[in-house]
Parts: sequence; structure tokens; C-alpha cells
Amino acid sequence: KLYNMVQDLKGNIRVYCRIRPSFRAESKNVVDFIGEDGYLFILDPTKTLKDGRKVFQFNRVFGPTADQDEVYKDTQPLIRSVMDGYNVCIFAYGQTGSGKTYTMSGPSGGVTSKDMGINYLALHDLFQMSNERKDIISYDIYVQMVEIYNEQVRDLLAEDKTDNKYPFHRVKHFHTTHKRLGREKIRSCNDDGLSLPDARLHLVKSPTDVLTLMKLGEVNRAVSSTSMNNRSSRSHSVLTVHVNGKDTSGSSIRSCLHLVDLAGSERVDKSEVTGERLKEAQFINKSLSCLGDVITALAQKNSHIPYRNSKLTLLLQDSLGGHAKTLMFAHVSPEADSFGETVSTLKFAQRVS
Ligand code: ADP
Ligand code: MG
Repeated sequence: KLYNMVQDLKGNIRVYCRIRPSFRAESKNVVDFIGEDGYLFILDPTKTLKDGRKVFQFNRVFGPTADQDEVYKDTQPLIRSVMDGYNVCIFAYGQTGSGKTYTMSGPSGGVTSKDMGINYLALHDLFQMSNERKDIISYDIYVQMVEIYNEQVRDLLAEDKTDNKYPFHRVKHFHTTHKRLGREKIRSCNDDGLSLPDARLHLVKSPTDVLTLMKLGEVNRAVSSTSMNNRSSRSHSVLTVHVNGKDTSGSSIRSCLHLVDLAGSERVDKSEVTGERLKEAQFINKSLSCLGDVITALAQKNSHIPYRNSKLTLLLQDSLGGHAKTLMFAHVSPEADSFGETVSTLKFAQRVS
């Protein structure tokens, strides 16, 4: 109980670290020790224990053997608070290949397999709660899914030729479908509580509906990437769940949950990349550092929060700060050759916690 009080005083920002299993047995593992109370010791493979050891602390550290259910268990209270009217943002941060998509969606090519990630487990949970409370509150649950690539927002659930296979309700204000949504299309939540009124909003009634949409999102995301360009590691994808509840007395609750799979945080060597690739890298660096600035400013309770510096923070503005709750997963790869990126991910995460 005391622990919870301390958590509350620390504010509504939490940081968890997740280390994925090593895929190369021959590689030295940089994880030295996972201590109690969220301590993580890592070791520079080129140095001695005395010189090369670094210590970090987070709200929790999930080691390589932690499974999806274990991770979800510690995320569940946050998800459940959405049903009580809290806005929640969950981010997956880390270099490409460190396990961000695994945590959020599941194993690659994922939406049909077992080991479902937070996205699916969260929706499943929300439906379950909605059912448990149905005599007191009636909930409607909607989802939107967009990607942000080079500071442009695209609707991943937009109408397309496969659309008629997905008989979901459409909501007023959504008859214009912009495949590409301009800056002016993002605005502070309007009367409907929507920050992206032109991205399609789908009413979902069951986990199966959600799976169908997640598949559509995956297909749309793949379509927009060329073979040269594995777009999924260079764009942020944002799955937003809107929850509207009405109780028997007619008063209503409205809140949303943003589930964000961020672009890979790896630094690219400016001397080696040019053209499109350099442009992408610059957009990613900028938006990730803006996100870091916003979360840090919130944690320090600054009076100015620089939301307007990136599309991502602008889009999430109403769900970052205030009474909203934020959880950042810092993902790291355990292999020795990732040591540099691992340190920079952990430093980033430490800064925002
Ligand atoms: P990212 O999205 O950060 O680029 P992925 O989630 O695609 O990384 O993970 C890279 C690979 O590692 C994928 O094949 C994924 O299934 C696997 N993987 C990641 N995390 C885990 C984990 N905790 N347990 C098992 N496999 C994992
Ligand atoms: Mg990924």
C-alpha cells in the first residue's frame, strides 16, 4: 500500500525495461545481473567488471525468460483504469530487433499466433470488463490505427478495396477518408474526444473484430512499404482505443488508450547514409527526442510541455500529462554487438523515468 502511495507521488509515468532472449549463443551477453526493485546491471563486453559495469533502475525489469502474460500482468492495472476514465499511453521504445513489436503485437507475422502482445490482451480485457459491468455501465469501444512516417500521418484502417469485407459501423464525422492526413487534421480532442477526426474509427464488439482490424492495419502498413524499405522499423504505429461509457443515470465516461510501437531508435551513421534513408533517420531522431523532451518535462512538472514539436506528441497531447498515465517499455537486445545501442536506450529510458 505504501509502495502504491510512493508510486502515486512519483507521478503517472512508469518505465519498464524488457530484455529479449539472445538469438546467438556464441555472443557474449551484456546483461550482468537483474536485481530486485528494478535494478539492471549491464557489462561492456570490451571492458572488465570494474570498469565496464553500468547500473540502471526502472520501475520493473523483465528478463529474457519473462513471457507475454507476465508482462501483461504488470500492465493490466493501467489498461483497466481506461474503463474508469483515465487516458493511457503505452510506448515501445528500442532499436530495431529489440522486441518492440513482440511486446505490442506478438511474434513477427503475428496477429494470428499465440503469445499475443499487449494490444490484443488489452482489448480482450476491456471487452471482459465491459461485460462484467454491463448492468451498471454500457460501453462502446472503437479503434483507430495510424502510422507516422517522415512526419506524415497515414490511416492504416482506411477504406480500401478490401473494405467491404469488414462490416464495421462508421461514426459521423468520418465520411472523408484521407489516406494521408495533414498537420491541420490533428487537433486537440474535439467534442467527440477525437484527436484524429479524419482517421477511420471502427466500432468493435469482440476480440475477433479487433484481430480482423489488426490484420487490415498490418496489410495496409506492408502495402505502403517498398521492398527496399522496411517501413515498419522507420515509422511509429499508433493503435488508439476509444472507450465511451454511459451509466444508468445517463452520465458518461470517455477515455482513450494509445498503444504505440515506435520507430527503431538506432542511430545511423550520417557519413554512410544519404537521400531517403538519411531523411527518415532525421525524422525519427527528431520525433523520438521530442517524445523524450515531453515526458521529461512532464516528469519534472515543467510549466511548458513542448507537445508541438512533433506529430507524435501532438497526436498524443491529450493523453500525455494531466491525469493521463504513461508507460514506456525500453527494449534491449542482450548481444554484445548491441551494447552501444543498449546503453543509449537505457539512458533515454532513465531520463524519462
Ligand atoms: P522490433 O519490433 O523492436 O524491431 P521484434 O519485435 O520484431 O523487434 O523482435 C525481433 C525478433 O525477436 C522477432 O522475431 C521477435 O519475434 C523476436 N522476439 C522479440 N522479443 C522476444 C521475446 N521476448 N521472446 C521471444 N522472441 C522475441
Ligand atoms: Mg517492429
